[in-house]
Amino acid sequence: MQIANLDMCSGCGACVAVCPKNAIDFKEDRFGQKFPKIDQNKCIDCHLCEKTCPINHEFFIPKLELTKCYALQGRNKGHVEGCSSGGVATIIARHIIEQGGYVFGCKFDENMDLNYVECSTLDELELIKGSKYVQSNLTQCYVQIKKRLVQGKKVLVIGLPCQIAGVKGYLKKDYENLFLIDLICHGTPPVRYLKEHVERLGYAKIENIKFREKKGFILTLFDNKKSKIFSVRSACDEYYSGFLNGIIYRENCYKCPYANPYRVSDITLGDFWGLDKETLVKKYEGAISVGLVHTEKGAAIFEEICDQIVYEERKIEEALEENGQLREPMKPDEHDRRVFLQYYPVLGFDRAFRKTKLYKKKVLVSKCKNCIVKTRVGKNLKELWRKIK
Ligand SMILES: Cc1cc2nc3c(=O)[nH]c(=O)nc-3n(C[C@H](O)[C@H](O)[C@H](O)COP(=O)(O)OP(=O)(O)OC[C@H]3O[C@@H](n4cnc5c(N)ncnc54)[C@H](O)[C@@H]3O)c2cc1C
Ligand code: SF4
Ligand code: SF4
Ligand code: SF4
Repeated sequence: MQIANLDMCSGCGACVAVCPKNAIDFKEDRFGQKFPKIDQNKCIDCHLCEKTCPINHEFFIPKLELTKCYALQGRNKGHVEGCSSGGVATIIARHIIEQGGYVFGCKFDENMDLNYVECSTLDELELIKGSKYVQSNLTQCYVQIKKRLVQGKKVLVIGLPCQIAGVKGYLKKDYENLFLIDLICHGTPPVRYLKEHVERLGYAKIENIKFREKKGFILTLFDNKKSKIFSVRSACDEYYSGFLNGIIYRENCYKCPYANPYRVSDITLGDFWGLDKETLVKKYEGAISVGLVHTEKGAAIFEEICDQIVYEERKIEEALEENGQLREPMKPDEHDRRVFLQYYPVLGFDRAFRKTKLYKKKVLVSKCKNCIVKTRVGKNLKELWRKIK
């Protein structure tokens, strides 16, 4: 029995969670990608996994004419501190918790796996803040999501579109008390790449990893005392460059069925790339997000939190123009993708990535520039350049 066409499998884990016989487990292939595998000795051919898998279904997706597009940002600096973009995911999550509800988001565990957790307090929300640019695991939370819904509690799930589709497939019906936020997504690398890279950097045990800072796309590692132990700009880092340039994703991401304006959630959030800031009416400080409100439920929750955000309506075309993943899946540089996959099973993450053109022509050059800037001569030149400018 076959759950679905596994070429399209996102690893959302809904089939694993739904199986009444615990007959499905994830197995890693030689590229570190996890796929569900059925233990035929346990399987009773009930086909529940097949009926659950979002690849096999078309969900009710709102008409685009109903979608409203906003530029938006959280007002309270304390609340959005540590968020990746405008912090609106966190503002909505706080609102749900304050009403006695539950929020499902992801955080790194002690093995550097990115797992979903249930949050019922504002303190717990702090742990899930921020974008982590690696595949997260929702499998162990489906049952809990349904349990809270049946209890009549408000539930918010924040995730990538394929995960939100997994939640819909698992639940098979809408609940009035369920709120879904999806993030605009260009793809996720298997977590094994990040683990191998961090180990290669010389850190066996770390407590947390952040991918964004006020200054931009920076990879930062923290120890168990929450101190920064390593920090590098994306352009100088193998993992981060591979991620941003779309070389190292799970294979299905390159044909992602969710990379378009017809979304599976109540509200879509992302960075407002291409926003014409000159024409903004309100005053914003720092990162501005795009928010696409698709459903009545989305509009209702937006209404409830609107005094906590700075926002204004924009034309959806403005968001579609520059945010490629609202139009189509990411296209990798085919040469680099091929080279990476060819070498990865033999050489591991860093050494395989160093075979790519991207590494040789850009990352290596950025690393060298960075080294020069760090020397005394480099610092003096930088200071001189600053004065001339
Ligand atoms: C893998 C990935 C790719 C993305 N690609 C794009 C893109 O191409 N274009 C774009 O405009 N925006 C992209 N984003 C979204 C963007 O980075 C912000 O997450 C979004 O703008 C919300 O910002 P915020 O400040 O409101 O979120 P915050 O308040 O910081 O909250 C972030 C929320 O995202 C959840 N989250 C973080 N990492 C993951 C993950 N790996 N899997 C599932 N949930 C996660 C957290 O649990 C938390 O609830 C991407 C995000 C991720 C995680
Ligand atoms: S058919 Fe039923 S028992 Fe078999 S793997 Fe799928 S869900 Fe499990
Ligand atoms: S339910 Fe999710 S993990 Fe299972 S086969 Fe479908 S896409 Fe893959
Ligand atoms: S690109 Fe698509 S399939 Fe890949 S992680 Fe993002 S939403 Fe999921």
